[in-house]
Amino acid sequence: MKRVLIIGAGGVGRVVAHKCAQNEDVFSDIWLASRTKSKCDQIASEITEKTGRTIQTAAVDADNVPELVALIKQIQPFMIINVALPYQDLTIMDACLETGVHYLDTANYEPLDEAKFEYSWQWAYRDRFEKAGLMALLGSGFDPGVTNVFCAHMQKHHFDTLDYVDILDCNGGDHGYAFATNFNPEINIREVTSNGRYFENGEWIETRPMQYKKQFDFDQVGPKNMYLLYHEEMESLSVNLRGVKRMRFWMTFGDAYLKHLEVFRNIGLDSIEPIMFEGREIVPIQFLKALLPDPASLGPRTVGKTNIGVIVKGTKDGKPLSRYVYNICDHQECYKETNAQAVSYTTGVPAMIGAMMMCQGHWMKAGVYNMEEFDPDPFMAALNEHGLPWSDIETDIDVDSLPE
Ligand code: NDP
Repeated sequence: MKRVLIIGAGGVGRVVAHKCAQNEDVFSDIWLASRTKSKCDQIASEITEKTGRTIQTAAVDADNVPELVALIKQIQPFMIINVALPYQDLTIMDACLETGVHYLDTANYEPLDEAKFEYSWQWAYRDRFEKAGLMALLGSGFDPGVTNVFCAHMQKHHFDTLDYVDILDCNGGDHGYAFATNFNPEINIREVTSNGRYFENGEWIETRPMQYKKQFDFDQVGPKNMYLLYHEEMESLSVNLRGVKRMRFWMTFGDAYLKHLEVFRNIGLDSIEPIMFEGREIVPIQFLKALLPDPASLGPRTVGKTNIGVIVKGTKDGKPLSRYVYNICDHQECYKETNAQAVSYTTGVPAMIGAMMMCQGHWMKAGVYNMEEFDPDPFMAALNEHGLPWSDIETDIDVDSLPE
């Protein structure tokens, strides 16, 4: 029976709040705080309607440590579930240290003016969390998050060495807009327009954006083009997986999406460098975000499924083996349950489960950790129970031989 404070009331925050409310035996008291309190109140009223439970709400600027500290002291939660933006990770971690509260997030810290996708800033908090007897769980969404746990599951149950790891992220959803992003547009566009990178023989190999493409027939979605990107879970997995020789991350994009991105890129609308416009400074990508549909509004109109998983080729008892573990999630089913589409759902459910692991003590030790550093079994069981069931099969799929 624990009190939690969720920070961030976007698509993911909505799902986390709904899922925590469904699990009253673990989350006996729920607070939802964000910059705009009316968004928290809206989510709170939906939850009362669906579950009969009351959750409490507050306004907070999570860039401001003293403001966070005051709120945390007032609420006294067991832990914070940070589902605001990656820019707020360090201020919230600072506030947790100051108030003696555990921490969880779903995305690595990003400075506003750099797109780096790396854990260095947050790993630098290890000593401080350890000394304070507090835990910080990093990247408890789907990818990062479930993909790390899928790898840990493969490592624990199937493989002696995980030689070749391919993470495949497919969103087969259709929202009917010419262009929209399924989560925060600024983060999404920064991720997709950055150079790609993959891990091979102990080194990171850099690629141009969208340089490598493969066609893959995703179960229950159908054939899609997927492109090699860098994705943040590979940083910790490259350290924590046994014997990994190569690791890549692939994400599907439709042609229309890529055409829009190319145009934004060509005219500088995706830039994170501030420019002067009519006497005031604006950041082009933030201006673009203001023009695009709010990801939270895509829920009712998105149909289709997501399919995200990991294919591992490796060895067991000296013999070669290939396995595929994946989850399929239906956008409309997610919307019926939580008023959010599957990209928010597949992030929010693992955030709730990560918090559940900490609240129940399955995963609890002082320090800063990535997901694969814990026993995957209770988390994998909870995925099946709380809306993200998975399949774990032997496979003869060879990503290298897929058509380009
Ligand atoms: P949204 O943009 O929909 O929501 C972000 C929320 O954070 C909004 O409610 C926003 O408030 C609030 N917020 C922003 N800045 C502050 C601040 N300074 N103080 C307090 N609240 C603030 O994003 P999503 O819900 O789509 O994503 C949430 C997080 O999940 C992001 O970090 C994203 O990177 C991560 N993510 C992780 C994934 C994974 O698989 N691991 C996948 C998808 C997302 P306001 O409404 O006032 O703007």
